[in-house]
Order: sequence, then C-alpha cells, then structure tokens
Amino acid sequence: MPLLELRDVTVAYGRIEAVRGISLTVDPGELVTLIGANGAGKTTTMRAISGIRPLARGSIWFDGRDITRMKAHDRVLAGIVQAPEGRGVFPGMTVLENLDMGAYGRKFDSKAEHDDALGRVFALFPRLDERKKQAGGTLSGGEQQMLAIGRALMARPRLLLLDEPSMGLAPQMIQQIFRTISEINAAGTTVLLVEQNAQQALSRSDRAYILETGEVSTSGPGKELLADPAVKRAYLGVA
Ligand code: ATP
Repeated sequence: MPLLELRDVTVAYGRIEAVRGISLTVDPGELVTLIGANGAGKTTTMRAISGIRPLARGSIWFDGRDITRMKAHDRVLAGIVQAPEGRGVFPGMTVLENLDMGAYGRKFDSKAEHDDALGRVFALFPRLDERKKQAGGTLSGGEQQMLAIGRALMARPRLLLLDEPSMGLAPQMIQQIFRTISEINAAGTTVLLVEQNAQQALSRSDRAYILETGEVSTSGPGKELLADPAVKRAYLGVA
C-alpha cells in the first residue's frame, strides 16, 4: 500500500485550475520528486497534500486513510510535515527555539525523546549545533534552509514534504542540502520533494513525476527520466 496517494486531484484558485486531475503515489521509504516549469502546479500540489488548499475534485489518501477533508494541523499529527515555504525561520528566536517550535503539536513523551530528536537534527546539521544560541535571522541562507528542514524533522515526519530546498543557495550548499535529503531518506523517512534543480533531484530520486500545466506528463524512475531525451531538452538544459 502506498504511504501517500493522490487520486485525480484538481485544485483551483477561483476559476483557474492550477492542478488538473493529478494522480500519484509515494511508497513507504521512497524519495519521490515533482519537477516542472514555473507555474506547472508543483507548489499547489504540495499545499493540497499538507492541507493548506482544499481540493476541487479527487481525493488524497495517507497510510490507507482518506485524508481529503482532514485539517492541516491534523495531517501534521498524522505525520505529514512540510518544511516551511520560503524557509520561514523565526528571525528573533534562537536556532534552538526555532527547532523546538518545529515539534508543533507533536508532543514528546519524555525529555529523552526530545533530546533524541534534537540529537538527530544536530547529527545531520552540525552547523546548527555550533550555532544553536544564534538568532535565526542572522543565519546565512543555506543555514536557514538547514534550520527549516531541521524544524520539520523535529515533528518526526512519516512523510517529509520539501518545496525547493535548494532555491537561492550557492552550488556547494546545494550539494550539501541534497546529500542531507538523501541521508534523511536513507534513515527511513519518506520524502516528497519539489525541485527546479532537476539534475540533482532526478539522480537522487527513486521516482519522479513531471508536471506540465497542472497535469502529470511523464513519470518513472529518476535515473530513467534523466536519460530521457525529451526530459533532457526541457529540464536539463541539454540541446
Ligand atoms: P514555481 O516553480 O514557479 O514555484 P509551481 O509549479 O510551484 O511554480 P504553482 O505555484 O503551484 O506552480 O502555481 C500554479 C498556477 O497557479 C500558476 O499559474 C499560479 O499563477 C497559480 N496560482 C498559484 N497560487 C495562486 C493563488 N494564490 N491565487 C491565484 N493563482 C495562483
């Protein structure tokens, strides 16, 4: 059974259907990527999954349950956690305080459990450990992205949603963020990723879906799509 399933999902802003009849699955343990041009509907799809946008048609299933009408915060409690869009770090709070905000409503049973979650975040991002007393707003762009992902991990997601984590980062930092996403996935967290950086994302994904004007145009194993001439032309900058 897939961990996440979208069945014929349509999402509209007023009369404009930004996502039209999308079906996709994410199996437990997979790293799946959505790629597509600007305006293709990637962010809208993520918002539908996290419960921020209602569906016009179709249904969303998580772990065998129909969650189409479940509220966003209940989805977090069920284990669907999105790293905040546009990073969304609280600038006046320290790194540590930001991370503690990340647990949202998912209460820790004990201090040991909390410390364990924090320890995992710091193991993935030693830079955050070094800067845990620093104000979030004074971190570099790359460090803020790490903090945003770290915050989502504090909620112990079963499905981690990441919307363009590499956006605006220097090449070296992009490499590091992708390596960390692979590590998070290898440690057992299922990941659904939206990325413009198709080369990196496809090479690291089990599978990917390509969105074009609100519809799935192609899907398959990441490495197969990397080798597909049409995908190369459209998304990998190859003539
Ligand atoms: P990008 O890569 O540029 O972020 P995207 O694939 O994430 O693009 P979406 O942000 O999902 O695309 O947008 C899909 C379509 O929906 C676009 O045409 C966009 O203008 C439109 N849209 C998005 N948000 C809204 C909104 N709040 N109100 C009206 N239209 C919207």
